[in-house]
Amino acid sequence: MSFDNLSVVLTTILYMVSAILFIRGIKLLGKADTARKGNLLSSVGMLIAVVTVLLEKEVTDTLFAPPLQNAYIWTAAAVVLGGIIGAVWAKKVEMTGMPQLVALFNGFGGLSSLLVALTQYMTDPNVNVFSAVTLGLTVAIGAIAFTGSVVAWGKLSGKLFKKNVNIPGKNFINALLAIAGLVGVVLYAVSIATGDPQLGMIGIIITTAAFLILGFTMVVAIGGGDMPVIISLLNAFSGLAAAFAGLALSNSVLVVSGCLVGTSGLILTLIMCKAMNRTLYALLFSSATASKSKKGDGPAKEPKSMSVEDAYLILEAASSVVFIPGYGMAVAQAQHAVKELCDKLEENGAEVSFAIHPVAGRMPGHMNVLLAEANVPYEQLKTADEMNPQMPNTDVAIVIGANDVVNPSAIEDESSPLYGMPIINAFEARTVFVLKRGKGAGFSGVENPLFTNDNTVMLYGDAKQTVSALVSEFAED
Ligand code: NDP
Repeated sequence: MSFDNLSVVLTTILYMVSAILFIRGIKLLGKADTARKGNLLSSVGMLIAVVTVLLEKEVTDTLFAPPLQNAYIWTAAAVVLGGIIGAVWAKKVEMTGMPQLVALFNGFGGLSSLLVALTQYMTDPNVNVFSAVTLGLTVAIGAIAFTGSVVAWGKLSGKLFKKNVNIPGKNFINALLAIAGLVGVVLYAVSIATGDPQLGMIGIIITTAAFLILGFTMVVAIGGGDMPVIISLLNAFSGLAAAFAGLALSNSVLVVSGCLVGTSGLILTLIMCKAMNRTLYALLFSSATASKSKKGDGPAKEPKSMSVEDAYLILEAASSVVFIPGYGMAVAQAQHAVKELCDKLEENGAEVSFAIHPVAGRMPGHMNVLLAEANVPYEQLKTADEMNPQMPNTDVAIVIGANDVVNPSAIEDESSPLYGMPIINAFEARTVFVLKRGKGAGFSGVENPLFTNDNTVMLYGDAKQTVSALVSEFAED
């Protein structure tokens, strides 16, 4: 066997090893106790894939040959620099900053596919029509994933587009951009068939510009409650962009990893749509609604508040308690204190459950991860479907930093942007404790009538401090 053949066989084997590590890694990520191992396996797979790409004959020939010659140094520097920035950033980020970091990294994935495709376009004039189409689609999907994820990062971090931006004629503009962008792909493919480089350049410029703008216009108008779905869709887009880049470059590992991200993102999108009672069509094409729901006639009711000491007396007498955690629990890092309170309530003879809404927090599974970290048994975590029928028989529902996911206007107020989203029916419990710091709105910015219900009392303050104070009351007993 010649050296070249041996190198091809070795490369293929190494690509297969990385693909297996990716698949095994994803499988392990499905459970909290094996997730770290899954992450590590996938990272090792990625390292093997990157090193193997750099050792491929075509790549070594390019990197060592003029005009690049010493490009290995630049490539190594980029890998090291990118690795250091990524590691420091991920290490420094607060747990609450994780969702926006993930959104931004997702955008970088889209941007890198876009740049790879543009570089391939500029450096390889001998592509065939199939590669031209896949390259054009890489540009399109990479561009939409990039700007869409940057907007998602802005919304999640609260730095940009805090209010829903209503774009007049949004659907028409988006359809026009999508059609223009796809026409650009066709022009590029035709330019390859007819040998007209100028037409190709016009096509690529149109596609890049149209889809960069489309990513912005599509995501900026998405309302609060729908953000989780659009984030998983963007995730799927970044994977698809990588898969198309793999097809354009004939790189099998890029196709495999891109397809894994793309399909898992699409599956998650569909699961989220179902959980949120939304269709993908309605999500993408319904216009953004106002960020405030309608207020009732007459003077606005003020929420009632209660001291921790009085709340303790109600809790001590409760025989069934349901915790409903939300984003505020993550902000307060209250999960360990919540577990302590759960233990105290159980010692006191109460039956305790956790009602977990699929979009509580700021990333899929956010609450599950936090509660698993605090050793709350998985069996105690119930879905909205499992918990809601039990709510009327629940003595106390303790809402910990949750807002949108317990907002009754989602089922009562057709004018609400949250209308149609299933919620945890906390309002049906005999008594509802809401732990939050003040009058802060939820992610959607929609007012919450739960807070002024007769059976609701507010326990103002940081959730961790309030829960710890309740634990102390039990301890003093
Ligand atoms: P919300 O964002 O609706 O509400 C969080 C509440 O927590 C706020 O009202 C805030 O009130 C309170 N809070 C903040 N910090 C603290 C603290 N230290 N102690 C006590 N309370 C605190 O959260 P939910 O979990 O109910 O809903 C999630 C929202 O995020 C949904 O709209 C969802 O669509 C969206 N989203 C979810 C994603 C996901 O994948 N899960 C991704 C993107 C968006 P105050 O300031 O008064 O304390």
